[in-house]
Amino acid sequence: MSLKLFNTLTRAIEQFRVLDPDGKGVGMYCCGPTVYNFAHIGNFRTFVCSDLLRRYLEFRGYDVRHVMNITDVEDKIIASVAKSGRGLKEYTGEYEKGFLEDFDTLHCARPHDLPHATDFIPDIIELIQKLIDQGFAYRANEGSVYFSIERYRAAGRKYGQLLNLNLEELRVGERVKSDEYDKEAVSDFALWKARVPEDGAVFWPSPWGEGRPGWHIECSAMSMRLLGPTFDLHLGGEDLVFPHHEDEIAQSEGARAANEKPFVRHWVHIAHLLVEGRKMSKSLGNYFTLRDLLAKGFSGREIRFLLLSSHYRESFNFTLEGLTGARTALGRIDELLGKLRDLAGSEKAEPDRTFLDQFTASLDEDLNVAGAWGHIFEWVRATNRLLSENSISPAQAAAHLAAWDRMDSVLGVGAKVLATEAPPEILALLDERQAARKAKDFGRADAIRDELKAKGWTIEDTPKGPKLKRI
Ligand code: AMP
Ligand code: ZN
Repeated sequence: MSLKLFNTLTRAIEQFRVLDPDGKGVGMYCCGPTVYNFAHIGNFRTFVCSDLLRRYLEFRGYDVRHVMNITDVEDKIIASVAKSGRGLKEYTGEYEKGFLEDFDTLHCARPHDLPHATDFIPDIIELIQKLIDQGFAYRANEGSVYFSIERYRAAGRKYGQLLNLNLEELRVGERVKSDEYDKEAVSDFALWKARVPEDGAVFWPSPWGEGRPGWHIECSAMSMRLLGPTFDLHLGGEDLVFPHHEDEIAQSEGARAANEKPFVRHWVHIAHLLVEGRKMSKSLGNYFTLRDLLAKGFSGREIRFLLLSSHYRESFNFTLEGLTGARTALGRIDELLGKLRDLAGSEKAEPDRTFLDQFTASLDEDLNVAGAWGHIFEWVRATNRLLSENSISPAQAAAHLAAWDRMDSVLGVGAKVLATEAPPEILALLDERQAARKAKDFGRADAIRDELKAKGWTIEDTPKGPKLKRI
């Protein structure tokens, strides 16, 4: 058995095959955030699903090189920087820091490379020059350089690999100024944008005059520089299929001879997070940032659980009730893990395969995460039953815990901090409470209980003695 993935390029679920002759290395590029304010949790659905794929590839034994760019120069950024009166780096640096904090809170494994577009200007210029040399790009009078889809197609190249495009209706609502009269055709897109007064101090010299790169070319230049001209996996939200990814293909494949290997082998697109049936987006104003939800008392793992609860190709409706449901579901897992830990004591064992194999079989089917959760909750039910019948040994409990650790290496929801992991100051308070109870000083014992509560811990009195639990 092995992983099958839907490939937007072929519109089919395919066996995942890597370019590496040893079958181990995977080059993976995800279009990263545009850092001009805080990302919303719709954006994070894309990043959490990408993280799931990376973790699953690692679980499956692949050696993944994960690249995620930081878009730190583009139209919206320039407009925001101009309004703020601050420098580009200072402005984007603040939101990049915020983004990475949120990324960590959601337990996303940090990419191996986080390239910034502004650090790749020489690569971008080199790539644009190649496209001019190939005859697919031209400099307009005002100094911008455009990619000509007509010239590209006239040379027998295919524009419209990810989507069947109606070329007459191309590029409506794209991130290109609509009044660019200097273009040969409305469908042409900018590779290099000539400097205009509104750009302020945001410009670089180039062979075509001062200016800045277009958004699409940034990703072509960074991905090929870091992963090579042809690599395994490219991911992004579904809104990036066109024009962003279609343009990335045209730019990257257009810079080399026809009939060479394709730019990317597998394209993976993540469906949108919706709010009341509409895409969560900044422009609609119907969004939550991660920080909004943390302020409501939800945790990173609860939000991650919700974002991972449905298949990545199905759009998913976000609700606060969904988050409450995530809390309950995780509570059931935590409770089982607590019982298993108590029983296993210091026993160690190889993972129990029963549910682990079913979990793997589900994820092998195009990352069927809903199926994988189904097996996990079946495991919770079945194991609770065995525990209530006292028909599970400490070694078996350890095997179940080892299986969970394997599954959680993919899901990344972790487990709640358990009693033994409480910090020393909390453990000292617990001891003090026990002493107070022994001395029948119940007033003091209750006051300590309240103090623990204020610090985020409750005490559960069990037949085996008091246990600490995080609230
Ligand atoms: P941006 O910062 O706008 O470049 O977007 C970062 C990533 O989030 C891109 O891959 C987008 O496709 C993705 N994205 C934007 N809105 C949503 C949404 N509502 N649901 C899922 N992904 C989204
Ligand atoms: Zn991109």
